[in-house]
Amino acid sequence: MIMSSKTKSKSKKSETGIPASETRSFQTEVKQLLNLMIHSLYSNKEIFLRELISNASDACDKLRFASLTDKALLEDDEALGIWISVDRERKTIVIRDNGIGMDYDEVVQDIGTIARSGTRTFIEKMEAEKSSGDADFIGQFGVGFYSCFLVGRQVTLLTRKAGTPSGSGVMWSSDGTGEYTISSMDRPNRGTEIIISLKDDDSQYAEEYRLRRIIEKYSDHVSIPILMPREPEPAAEESDDAEKPETQQEEGEEWETVNKGSALWTRPKTEITEEEYSKFYSSLTYDSTPPALTIHNRVEGKMEYISLFFIPSTAPFDLWDREQRHGIKLYVRRIFISDDAKTLMPNYLRFVRGLVDCADLPLNVSREFLQQNQDIDKIRQAAVKRVLGELKKLSKSDEDAYNKLWKEFGKALKEGVVEDYENRQSIAELARFSTTKGDGESQTVSLDQYVDRMPMSQKHIYYLTAESHTAAGSSPHLEIFKKKDIEVLLLSEPIDEWFVSHVTEFRDKTLKSIAKGDLELDDLKDEEAEKKTEEEQAAQDTLVQKIKEVLDGTVKDVRFSNRLVDSPSCLIADEMDMGGNMERLLKAIGQDAPTAKPILEINPDHALIKRMNPESEELEDWAKLLFDQALLAEGATLNNPGDFVKRVNRLLIS
Ligand code: ADP
Repeated sequence: MIMSSKTKSKSKKSETGIPASETRSFQTEVKQLLNLMIHSLYSNKEIFLRELISNASDACDKLRFASLTDKALLEDDEALGIWISVDRERKTIVIRDNGIGMDYDEVVQDIGTIARSGTRTFIEKMEAEKSSGDADFIGQFGVGFYSCFLVGRQVTLLTRKAGTPSGSGVMWSSDGTGEYTISSMDRPNRGTEIIISLKDDDSQYAEEYRLRRIIEKYSDHVSIPILMPREPEPAAEESDDAEKPETQQEEGEEWETVNKGSALWTRPKTEITEEEYSKFYSSLTYDSTPPALTIHNRVEGKMEYISLFFIPSTAPFDLWDREQRHGIKLYVRRIFISDDAKTLMPNYLRFVRGLVDCADLPLNVSREFLQQNQDIDKIRQAAVKRVLGELKKLSKSDEDAYNKLWKEFGKALKEGVVEDYENRQSIAELARFSTTKGDGESQTVSLDQYVDRMPMSQKHIYYLTAESHTAAGSSPHLEIFKKKDIEVLLLSEPIDEWFVSHVTEFRDKTLKSIAKGDLELDDLKDEEAEKKTEEEQAAQDTLVQKIKEVLDGTVKDVRFSNRLVDSPSCLIADEMDMGGNMERLLKAIGQDAPTAKPILEINPDHALIKRMNPESEELEDWAKLLFDQALLAEGATLNNPGDFVKRVNRLLIS
């Protein structure tokens, strides 16, 4: 025991042999700690209430548990609760519970003694954060009770242990400066009452509405009812349907429960109706549409926690507003700790709502603690796996429902292949695409489906990225694929460029852009195209050479294409180059993109190309026109549209 206290002044002996009243000094480290609390300039002092409610709730839980084997402990007072009231005139707050209470020795040990370990570190941390810090880290070290000195000038604690006679009550009192007095007292009520006389600067806490707000924020799901004096009826008529909170009549005062307190997640899922889940979801998210998926698990073993996640039916309006968003709530034994985004769910799963309630973490853990804690990491990893797993299950059991979800959240989920290396494969399995064989613009085809229906000879998964679905669907690059009936993924969302650069393989098939590099002839060999005479070949080579000269500096190369059927030309990126679409995307978001020159491919079988005479004066106009047309077909804009118009007109009248 760390506590070293001296009896300093008057200590009368009571009949029980316990001194009736004594003044003791706090142990040195407690003194230091209290000194820091009292003079703290922390923000977030309101957390003192959370700490005291948490202690009171624990005390009720302990009593409930003990009464399972000893019913007498409940005396005649079975309805457990936490009562909170204020005296505005006197600037006091009273927090009372009818939980297990404490006996004399327990008060001396538990309230007079500081945290069992880590005290030094704690004090150092407090000192370091004195002027600028956030009081929120206080409970991390199990010194929650002392947080009442953040706002209290004088704190009095009255308590009686359940199952002991009324004469064995204890009164403890201190101004936190170095000493406390402790005495026996007669106390008919079981449980603990804490009376805080507020410092002048903190007198704003002697307002009920203020306390209600703090309770709503931190302690709403504490399962023990938190009661406050009933608010006066509003003058306006109240509708009969309005839900009235539970009330209790006591000593002439009417109390009402101010916390929702259901802690729904702590109940077994077999006992929770869909309607209850929906109601809870809506209280959490303010979304009145029931969630599409509810994922509720109790994890036991080395780490004990409960997770309850919801996937909404529709995307929230702030899905893309990363600054405003709140994440999965973290509770420790039903006490709210944090809803810091990213703590428990990665960014790409930001649409998942819900909570984790962990039995093993200290209360009031700090932000840094959450970011570095291995247990939290493990919970997050398991949460991600669980969510992805449930999505996969849904995709197999109800394709329509899954496709609806994909429509809402697919764009965010696709970010996962960049953000979450470990789960890249699962995310790729979950992804849905629109394809040349799919249902128009809707993204319903999975990579599995694509691979399943690939002909044996096909080696790659082909895709095309473009600015819009229409641009992709009408791209000249698709022509040979349509002719050969080969399916191509049509990717028109910006994130798709990142998706294909991170998922380069699926089921041993490489993903290949049809607008890059050479096409594998095995897949696409066009026998007709090969039947050319040597003369024809020579003429075509000259044409290619001439066009190359005209477009020198603009293109990397000019060559005949094996992918065009109806169009005269298209642009191709070199295998290792970025591609026009990605380049435009990066420029649009203000990033520097290396400008790689494209390759111009021309269609030797197109009437226009056949009519082109390498020796003609118009060749320059024709060559530039072929290039501009190919650019336009990609959805790009022309550098000099005026020149293009003049060129077209010249050719039209010639
Ligand atoms: P922690 O709650 O982390 O243990 P605290 O400083 O808040 O640290 O409380 C110290 C101890 O005092 C508790 O563990 C508990 O045994 C006792 N205690 C505090 N508040 C109450 C209460 N309202 N009723 C009964 N015991 C309490």
